[in-house]
Amino acid sequence: MAFTIRGVVLPEREERVLRIDGDQVRNATEGDDGELVADGVWLLPGLVDVHTHPGTEKPGDEFDEERFRRHMVEHRDAGVLLVRSPGSADRDSGRVRDDVDLPRLRSGGQWLATPGRFYPGFGRDIAEADLVPAAVEEARASSGWCKIIGDWTDGEPAVPLEVLTAAVEAVHAIGGRVAVHCQTAEGCRNAVLAGADSLEHGMYLDHDLLPRMAAQGTALVPTFTTFAKIVDKLDNAPPDFRDWLLGGWEGMPATVRAAHEAGVVVLAGTDSTPCGTVAGEIEWLIRSGVPPEVAVGAGSWTARSWLGLPGIVDGAPADLVAYEADPVEDPAVLSRPSRIILRGRLIR
Ligand SMILES: [Zn+2]
Repeated sequence: MAFTIRGVVLPEREERVLRIDGDQVRNATEGDDGELVADGVWLLPGLVDVHTHPGTEKPGDEFDEERFRRHMVEHRDAGVLLVRSPGSADRDSGRVRDDVDLPRLRSGGQWLATPGRFYPGFGRDIAEADLVPAAVEEARASSGWCKIIGDWTDGEPAVPLEVLTAAVEAVHAIGGRVAVHCQTAEGCRNAVLAGADSLEHGMYLDHDLLPRMAAQGTALVPTFTTFAKIVDKLDNAPPDFRDWLLGGWEGMPATVRAAHEAGVVVLAGTDSTPCGTVAGEIEWLIRSGVPPEVAVGAGSWTARSWLGLPGIVDGAPADLVAYEADPVEDPAVLSRPSRIILRGRLIR
């Protein structure tokens, strides 16, 4: 059943009447039928979480389909209508991606973990010599993304630059994209120099690399949400580890602000459960000094476009979230959507 909705469309800030007919948004025209389900609202093309791992909650969890569905419903009911899963405990998690009840999913196959990096057995453990074919395999088996654990702890070597570069080049050659986990200076540097599509976390990222990231289109996904939880629980951690993590955490706001100012695309990812909390990540971006309009885009239209989907334009897939206030003026409203439309269906 077609229906209409009237409001101010972001980021264009145009008041429009939209007609939702199946999984398509149309500009309404005179004489269109269909109930007006909301009026005077602010409209986003859904929220987006570009770093979430539906189906697992903690290291060592096996992928569980029921948990996956629960996580995806948590996202959806918070207005998160598109997610990217950069790494999963199950390469096949993408098999449920077209479930009409769940947000759209861009999956990245299994985490690719070379020896000494990542939680043993949680991802796909491979030798450095096998990283290139494995990266291509994961990208082919998923939505075109793969996820490489580019480094792990302080003082341990990152994936060598030449190995990482070869993997990125091979995945790009088949039209795929590469997300790299990095949280040391060396890991971040190698990810940038290798031409990765996104740096996940980016702790200790050298600001001198920001112009290069901007020029080659490497995005930064800082995942404040998960680090905020980790730094809260460091009381019993070994002092070296605690100091390293706190040092990285304290540097993150300045890095994120500098990245935005250098023209790097900064995106919102929570890397955290419960799911459906990307509005909180947007608040972290604002707190770090990113302009509110950019921060809201980082968890909505900018992220959506970065993942290959249009915003609210005539003929676009019908994902919409409506708010009673302007989320750029009042970001707190992001956690209170008044209407949620996923794939043309009124969820709320
Ligand atoms: Zn993650």
